[in-house]
Amino acid sequence: MPLIVQKFGGTSVADTQKILGAARKAIRAAQAGNQVVVVVSAMGKTTDHLVSLAKEITDRPSHREMDMLMSSGEQVTIALMAIALESLGYKAVSMTGAQIGIKTDSSHTKARIRSISTDSMRKALDAGKIVIAAGFQGIDDEGNITTLGRGGSDTSAVALAAALGADECDIYTDVDGVYTTDPRLLAEARKVAQISYDEMLELASLGAGVMHSRSIEFAKKFGVTVHVRSSFTDTPGSLIVATPESNTAVAGAAIAKNEARLTLVGVPDKPGNAMRLFARIAEAKIATDMIVQNIGQEGRTDISFTVPGNDLTATLDVLKTVSEEIGAERVDYQENVTKVSVVGLGMEGQGGVAEKMFRAVSRKMINISMITTSEIKISTLVSWEDALETLRAVHSVFQLEKTPSQLNSPELSAKQAKPIKPELDVARLSGMEDILIEAIHLDQTQARITMPNVPDKPGIAAEMFERIAEAGIVVDMIVQSCGRNGKAIITYTVPRTVLDTALDVTKKLAGEWKSDEPLYNSTIAILSVRGTGLRSHTGLAYRMFKTLADGKINVNVISTSERNISITVNNAQGEQGLQLLKKEFANEMI
Ligand code: ADP
Ligand code: ASP
Ligand code: MG
Repeated sequence: MPLIVQKFGGTSVADTQKILGAARKAIRAAQAGNQVVVVVSAMGKTTDHLVSLAKEITDRPSHREMDMLMSSGEQVTIALMAIALESLGYKAVSMTGAQIGIKTDSSHTKARIRSISTDSMRKALDAGKIVIAAGFQGIDDEGNITTLGRGGSDTSAVALAAALGADECDIYTDVDGVYTTDPRLLAEARKVAQISYDEMLELASLGAGVMHSRSIEFAKKFGVTVHVRSSFTDTPGSLIVATPESNTAVAGAAIAKNEARLTLVGVPDKPGNAMRLFARIAEAKIATDMIVQNIGQEGRTDISFTVPGNDLTATLDVLKTVSEEIGAERVDYQENVTKVSVVGLGMEGQGGVAEKMFRAVSRKMINISMITTSEIKISTLVSWEDALETLRAVHSVFQLEKTPSQLNSPELSAKQAKPIKPELDVARLSGMEDILIEAIHLDQTQARITMPNVPDKPGIAAEMFERIAEAGIVVDMIVQSCGRNGKAIITYTVPRTVLDTALDVTKKLAGEWKSDEPLYNSTIAILSVRGTGLRSHTGLAYRMFKTLADGKINVNVISTSERNISITVNNAQGEQGLQLLKKEFANEMI
């Protein structure tokens, strides 16, 4: 008998009428001959309310008790949903995470799923019952209730679908699908027919709140087809599958409004310092993004990165200790900055995307204070006031409001999703959320150019990368960050074969801008680790740095995304670095 998992988010179960509406959707699926597992969130804004109650008492409630508190929201909904189904004449049973056997690690409020036992659910399903599962929660080895992080019910739903080998996982929510950007922010956003796992994972982790990013890690790993659709209508929604909607360069744009930028200034430039910094941050389970390490000058470098605004205080605590440990000069930070990113599988190996984005932003006279790129995304940091305007400019320059056929880009059909590791046996699997590494690469074809002391004003990056593109050069990594004197530092990599041409262009610009001569290194190596959910596993970048530091290898430019972390090192140490990384990740390789 086919099995369907349906998940209803907070708004979709906000009151008893809505719960009855959701119950009817479950009944329809059952009547169509499916076994049905329903995963629910807490009603409406219940979780927010519970959090604020604790905050009325103290700023720093213990994480264990927060889990006890927050998980109560979902327990209310499962009972009401089961009561609703019974009232409509159907057999149903509600189950908490513990009753199902959703085992997690013990990192309260950010727990990861280790295993799911399907026995109790199967028994109920085989007895003809609709199973109502509490989202967001699990239980650790000591029997403590844990939660998966805000928005985590999506992850519960997709994980249950994976464990049960469900035919589909329907995410019912208050929008009717996945849009090219948050439709509540831009009316011109377009609903996509389908989006690839890699793109959705990246968008979700860059701020697209429609899906919890870790749910997409599950979907990709175990080949679950996810259907995001409206709770309130019957129109088809958007499929999240292995294949993108089309080959256009950009599939969507995301905004993370409340970010903070931190810089550790004047770090002695020697192997191991970056590692120590990220080790401490990883221990605190804080997810960093937009990591930029400037090219060292006078034996010191600056390391900047962004964290979600909520993690600022915790990150500052960590930086204070680390700064003393490694003898950095000081810690700098900026609150209320916004990250605007574009994502698309189609931009891989294709030039022209970055400069188009930078130009669109500069036309609005908006200053970009930081830039990082990876193969399938470009992120820019702008001030909070400029955020919406930036998003609008970027959405429009890539014509995201147009369908692939309007753009003459053939739509790709949704292929049957396949697990990336077909032999994964979920029932036996321990560590369902563990990292899977697909490949470790060494690229020895690139060279690096750095432009220090660039005026920090709108249009600089646009001008620079347009001029480089005019010379026929395709740039790979780009990072821009703020230098010590308030000026920008831009670093990028190009194929070694065109280094001279790129240098000529850059020198000319330096002359025009009256900034310093560019620095370059014609023999760098890029080491990349590719896998699933690399950024959300906060410890991964740290392990890469540690492995390289232990081998006395200094790291320069760093680029991170959910599926790829790349680090540039000196060419002479490339091969050694590759071997060290292969050894370090041997157990996680597919
Ligand atoms: P639920 O409570 O059902 O989990 P969420 O509030 O977590 O719902 O997610 C749905 C919301 O996600 C939408 O109301 C929308 O504002 C927001 N959103 C952000 N980015 C996107 C996007 N790219 N496509 C659709 N919705 C998005
Ligand atoms: N109720 C939880 C939250 O609000 C989980 C969820 O809804 O996904 O974060
Ligand atoms: Mg949600």
